[in-house]
Amino acid sequence: MNWDILKDLLKPGASCVITTHYSPDGDAIGSELALAAFMRQIGIRPHIINQDPVPRIYEFLDKDKTVRVYSKEDDDIIMKADFIFLLDVSSWARVGSPSEALRASSAGRICIDHHATNDGIADIDIADATVSATGELIYDMLCALGGEITPDVARALFVAIATDTGWFRFSNTSPHVFQIIACLTARGAAPEELYNLVYEQLRRERMSLLGRGLAKLQSTADGRIAWMAFTRQMFDETGADGEDVEGIIDLLRTIGGVEIVMLFREATDGMIRVSLRSKNDADVSRLAERFGGGGHIRAAGIRMSGDLDEAIRRVVEAARELIESSGEPAE
Ligand code: 5GP
Ligand code: MN
Repeated sequence: MNWDILKDLLKPGASCVITTHYSPDGDAIGSELALAAFMRQIGIRPHIINQDPVPRIYEFLDKDKTVRVYSKEDDDIIMKADFIFLLDVSSWARVGSPSEALRASSAGRICIDHHATNDGIADIDIADATVSATGELIYDMLCALGGEITPDVARALFVAIATDTGWFRFSNTSPHVFQIIACLTARGAAPEELYNLVYEQLRRERMSLLGRGLAKLQSTADGRIAWMAFTRQMFDETGADGEDVEGIIDLLRTIGGVEIVMLFREATDGMIRVSLRSKNDADVSRLAERFGGGGHIRAAGIRMSGDLDEAIRRVVEAARELIESSGEPAE
């Protein structure tokens, strides 16, 4: 990756807006906070403005509460910014509510992302679908441009990469990931502490929701496809919310013999959110694209309107077709 193009652009005294996708994950938040820290190091004023708040499990990274939830009042900042960084996202639809103001601003747009689906929404597109996480790109950028990996930056980037690699278990965990992690650990990111903060402080409501979901786990195609669905009623009865669903899809992957796992949920905005994961070469980003979603080969998502049962029927059918076209089950 050639980062020189940014070197000439990033001049002290400028201001920038940093944003990411709705329902931000660890990679989105960690990358934003690390980039904002680097901007401050080089004398550029950063404003992190997202559609959604920082999820509870990542709040500890944003100690100073610098991440803002977009409102019309931010339009002035957006219009006056010199550049806009779009992190971990390459489509306006997934940026959500700030997108209208961001598009109206004359600020130069720089997209840094690792998704296979890319709508070309930036002037400078730094997209690499081979890397594990956007945090990996931010790390490389800091190294190339002389950024300092402070303990806070190290923690933010560690969480970004650890969460997008399933804590270094997924196929996107390359040797380079471990090289980066060695550096981040040396600079103050403590794996045990960070794992505890992200995954061992979960709410009881999440367990209740999970229990309901597991009781209704479904599968088809000789167990090669499995899915779970959360209705509004299940959320209401357990007190769980959308954030409590994070990570549940990874549990479905642990079932032997499954190749595609899916999680459906009725979101508060009336839409159906679908998470898709593949354990082999079945490309779930292509499956998601058929329904207007996208993502990576092994992790993708869809946001669709309509009835939950109908969404399940259509997406499961498409998953069956994908499995049938990709051959016999692996031994
Ligand atoms: P998750 O299931 O964790 O929400 O998302 C898995 C992956 O699919 C993420 O990389 C995410 O960016 C992508 N993804 C999730 N939902 C959507 C969607 O509605 N549209 C697109 N294009 N990508 C999505
Ligand atoms: Mn990511």
